[in-house]
Amino acid sequence: EAAGLARLRDLPAVTAYGRKVMLAANLARAAEARAALEAGAEGVGLFRTEFLFLDRPDLPGEEEQFAEYRAVAEAMAPRPVVIRTLDIGGDKFLPALPLPREENPFLGWRGIRLWLDREDLAVPQIRALLRAARHGEVHILLPMVADVSEVRRARALIERVRAGLGEAAGPYKLGIMVEVPAAALAADRLAAEAEFFSIGTNDLVQYTLAADRGNPKVAALSDPLHPAVLRLIDMTVRAAHARGIPVAVCGDAAGDPRVIPALVALGVDELSMPPAAIPAAKRQVRSLTEADVQAAIRGL
Ligand code: PEP
Ligand code: MG
Repeated sequence: EAAGLARLRDLPAVTAYGRKVMLAANLARAAEARAALEAGAEGVGLFRTEFLFLDRPDLPGEEEQFAEYRAVAEAMAPRPVVIRTLDIGGDKFLPALPLPREENPFLGWRGIRLWLDREDLAVPQIRALLRAARHGEVHILLPMVADVSEVRRARALIERVRAGLGEAAGPYKLGIMVEVPAAALAADRLAAEAEFFSIGTNDLVQYTLAADRGNPKVAALSDPLHPAVLRLIDMTVRAAHARGIPVAVCGDAAGDPRVIPALVALGVDELSMPPAAIPAAKRQVRSLTEADVQAAIRGL
């Protein structure tokens, strides 16, 4: 079994009909990079930076963040590492950053909304990311984007910080998480503002079906195979490919064997999942025929 896994690790994730799908890892800490490589990850598709901020009374500063981002970039090099800017609010809170109580936190001050309003958080994070980008292939991913103006503000802020860093900043690509239905519906406009998309199905399903992702009473509605969700993914992929930018899926659906055939059928370029899910996903992708994937979206 161990020998089988090692063999599998070195095989490409290509369907039986010859379509390549990139398999990447979702990580929370740089120390997990080794597990990602052992599982055969071709990159990190989602590095959730909020874990660096959790379980501590203070906030990590620029140097501590730089060390973490550099470590994951170096461990994965030359593979790409997509690092998401701090995504708190909603269901994610930090002890060191008390937030105002909100009636509807999932519809409130979270993700990029909060980050753009808090340059005291955003600027040290951007400096750490751009400095780490000199040590590997670092891409920056913006969570909870609902409108083009947010991406423009984020890019302007990143460019301002980059100008201040001069030679200390490395090159980067900027990506948008598609996890609000508005972003999928206006994906053609957003595609003009970014170098890649990453679909966050956990939130996209929640917002599309208006079903709280953490509430077991509505869990039956939370289905990434719902035609409404698949149509939004389809729109997103078409809009991205029309502009020549790639699309990843980094929500739980990306590693779910029931959903993978539909995502491949819709033309998703990359699936990003916990490292432990990669070997099974690769076996599945390698077995998929064109008939399998067409059946997965029949009638859509
Ligand atoms: C998602 O919403 O699918 C996602 C990947 O982000 P998170 O689960 O961290 O909200
Ligand atoms: Mg999300």
